[in-house]
Amino acid sequence: MQVCITVDMEHDCPPFLRTYRGVTQGTPRLLELLSGEGVKATFFTTGDVARRFPDTIRSIVDGGHELGCHGDSHRRFSAMDPTTARQELHDATDVLRKFYPVASFRAPNLDFPASFLPFLRDLGYKVDSSEGRHKPGSFFKAPYTAERVRRVPASTAPSLVRLPRLIRERFYARMKDPVVFFFHPWEFVDVTREPIPIDCRFRTGEPALRTLRETIGFYRGRGATFRRMAELAAQA
Ligand SMILES: [Zn+2]
Repeated sequence: MQVCITVDMEHDCPPFLRTYRGVTQGTPRLLELLSGEGVKATFFTTGDVARRFPDTIRSIVDGGHELGCHGDSHRRFSAMDPTTARQELHDATDVLRKFYPVASFRAPNLDFPASFLPFLRDLGYKVDSSEGRHKPGSFFKAPYTAERVRRVPASTAPSLVRLPRLIRERFYARMKDPVVFFFHPWEFVDVTREPIPIDCRFRTGEPALRTLRETIGFYRGRGATFRRMAELAAQA
């Protein structure tokens, strides 16, 4: 069993907030936890966050984690025409590759039209994790290759991990290899009082850190190996 911990680095709970508490307060806590657990993760980052918080990006890379791309502005790709989408990818890639040889991508809201895959390929991307097994129509989707890009779906919504232990572990036991979790830095800050949907804000902050630690322990106890996204794709 292989497990990939991924983090979508963006401003707080888009499109509802415009703050960056997750980047400034959540990320250091998350990096400390991952370092303590000896787990290397993949951080899909917007160009916007990389331009505003270069020191945070450097701390991610210095921690041995993989830097990936999460678009430039966190707008939905399905709402863009091809020219805009190509520019969005180009702008993000440009800034992110100043920090790391970025080759993995995840679209905001797991929303990426297949017709845009050639843009990723042309920019040298090897992996796309913009699909989700928890989304209707993708329940049993295994990794596959299209346009020479390896598509590795996420396994579940982030909020599932914050459910009570017995409930979430029932889901974990049914997840298919490779298991791809995704989180957001703002989940590791207490946003329970923010005007955002309940599935975004419940059990954020300390409880979210605790459940991530327990989740790593759950899989470690079952002999799982933790991989960065590019490592997962390279085995294909
Ligand atoms: Zn996002």
